[in-house]
Amino acid sequence: MAGKILSGKKVADSILEHAKKEVQVLKKKGITPKLVVMQVGDDPASTIYVNKKHKTCVEIGIDSEIKKFGTEIKYTDFLVEIGNLNKDKKVHGILVQAPLPEHLSHKMVYETIDVQKDVDGFHPCNHGKNLLGKDGLQPATPKGIMRLLEETGIKIEGKTAVVIGRSNIVGKPIALMLINAGATTTVCNSKTKNLGNITKEADILISAVGKANLVKKNMVKKGAIVIDVGTNKNKKGKLCGDVDFENVKEIAGWITPVPGGVGPMTIASLIENTIKACKVLECAN
Ligand code: NAP
Repeated sequence: MAGKILSGKKVADSILEHAKKEVQVLKKKGITPKLVVMQVGDDPASTIYVNKKHKTCVEIGIDSEIKKFGTEIKYTDFLVEIGNLNKDKKVHGILVQAPLPEHLSHKMVYETIDVQKDVDGFHPCNHGKNLLGKDGLQPATPKGIMRLLEETGIKIEGKTAVVIGRSNIVGKPIALMLINAGATTTVCNSKTKNLGNITKEADILISAVGKANLVKKNMVKKGAIVIDVGTNKNKKGKLCGDVDFENVKEIAGWITPVPGGVGPMTIASLIENTIKACKVLECAN
């Protein structure tokens, strides 16, 4: 029997519906949450993501501003721009869209964002809170993945989890969340030997790599929950994940599609984080 499809789109829609109501309540108190997305350069994929975020904010009733900068902007000038947004009382969320040009892809960029406005959850302080299992602004994609796992109704505690990928924005933070939720967690990377032997042990398998068809049916345990974070283009130029979806869905218990899986959850989590940041900054809980 084929695995159940874990639709991020469906869950994200219900989160956004709730978010819309929360924004209406805030607006009645004279407060409008505001998100500013900073984009450097005009990478086409980044522009698509930035526009998607903007469109969702508008639908929810959140004020949204996209600040675009040329790739020639100096590092110090960029930090000044972040500093100005930190000081702006009307702004509750600041997001710097990746990737950044080489001279800006410096960790001080994320460290400069006010921790309370860091709606992407990339500030070292928010990463630290995630590590400690403390309340803070959690990285959007891992937060969305945890919500999807919750949706299956399967208890995480005591399960074996395997995360493929160790990036600061997905692999490491989701591994920490799984550890905090009581899963026995292994993190794999590009140097991992016998990847398939490790993934085959997983009750929960998360792939965050960026390689189409990396995860094949013979690497997956029967009944496993398979979460595909990867966004790739297949040979026909169509969007696909890391997982060989058609074959793996035959053996998985639950599986996320690409598109319509983790992607919509990332945006929904960003919206939730923006509302949360707004409430904290305005003391409007
Ligand atoms: P990243 O920074 O490039 O990290 C990729 C990770 O995969 C690295 O840790 C790398 O290992 C590991 N890796 C590469 N080849 C591997 C292999 N053959 N076997 C095992 N591990 C391997 O990427 P990222 O930012 O985490 O993003 C990962 C993917 O998720 C990308 O496709 C990205 O577009 C997608 N993504 C999607 C969303 C969404 O909302 N849907 C959000 C964020 C990211 P090393 O560390 O050893 O190099």
